Amino acid sequence: MTAKNVSIETLAVHAAEPRPARDRSVVFPIYQGTVYEIAPDGGVDYLRYSNTPTQTYLHDKLAALEGAEAAVATASGMAAISTALNSVLASGDRIVVAGNIYGGTHALLTEESRRIGWGVDFTDAYDPAAWAAALTPRTKAIYVESITNPLIRVGDLAGIAAFAREHGLTSIIDNTFPTPVLFRPHELGYDLVCHSATKGLNGHSDLTAGVVTGTAERIERVRHYLTLYGGSLDPHTAFLLARGLKTLAIRVRAQGENALALARFLEGHDAIAEVHYPGLEAHPDHARAVELFNGFGSMLAFRPVGGLDAAERLLKSLEIPYAAASLGGVESLVTRPAISSHAKISAEERAAAGITDDLIRFSTGIEAADDLLVDFEQALSD
Ligand SMILES: *Cc1c(COP(=O)(O)O)cnc(C)c1O
Repeated sequence: MTAKNVSIETLAVHAAEPRPARDRSVVFPIYQGTVYEIAPDGGVDYLRYSNTPTQTYLHDKLAALEGAEAAVATASGMAAISTALNSVLASGDRIVVAGNIYGGTHALLTEESRRIGWGVDFTDAYDPAAWAAALTPRTKAIYVESITNPLIRVGDLAGIAAFAREHGLTSIIDNTFPTPVLFRPHELGYDLVCHSATKGLNGHSDLTAGVVTGTAERIERVRHYLTLYGGSLDPHTAFLLARGLKTLAIRVRAQGENALALARFLEGHDAIAEVHYPGLEAHPDHARAVELFNGFGSMLAFRPVGGLDAAERLLKSLEIPYAAASLGGVESLVTRPAISSHAKISAEERAAAGITDDLIRFSTGIEAADDLLVDFEQALSD
């Protein structure tokens, strides 16, 4: 089964499920063993090598969803990203980063990259001239996120993939926010797609995992470094992630409908100063999101009228969402990036990036949209 002959809803449920089912079990079992008898061809199956049955089953499912030849699961999103980078960059090589990136990835590519010896050139995600200006003979890769946090921007993703091809760079994209339900970067030519599966892929805020997808050859390299550094995913978590994946498509659609309803409601509310959601016509990347994505996702950000005090009052008054970081789960979550995802960045840098202290980020769950709107209505009138 591939994305070419069935829809992602069907893939989420049926891709990689063996037919006939193993032992007639409709649900793929958890092979918890760390080691297997030596195969007739001499092959060694071992959990850290990421080649045991439940791991392989999960890999096949993830590859099908991203429309990739191969996938390898990792113990976290950061393990996916760091291992993907290890598979591409040697000491002395350089990477171009286009646009804002997740805080953990930013720390890896600033502090840790100095120790490893990777050169990093930060550019923006909209300006091909800036990417070209950053190129050096040692530049090996370009890195981007498909939707950025917390202002929910969508860079020139097609342009970046084409630029990478033209200059022989490996293109790497973090596709955590949209998930493959909304966007499949390999179709644009991206070489390696990374996810924090902790977020939307699993969708239940109850495990930590990651994945890298790409050609079999590239993923074999990633798996090599994963085995060396030891960030493999254990089978029990692999099983839970595969279970979460079966409802991925309907969860992401429900979240997207809720997020759009909430964004429109907030956009029309007198107590709200600004709303950032790519599904709104007023969002600067709306046209690009329409062109590239099958929907606008679960994430939005907004500022209330009245500054920080109003933002804190609103956070206290909302009854349905948890005040918590992270995203992509079935439960709505609400945070202020200035004290969560962007707390380590200086106030000046935050202000320059438009991340004011009163900015609120919302990760929409699968609750009824009307209940979320009623909750906001009461919280905003407090
Ligand atoms: C959470 C997140 C990560 C890191 O994932 P972990 O599973 O926490 O290691 C990377 N990229 C993005 C966009 C994220 O949201």
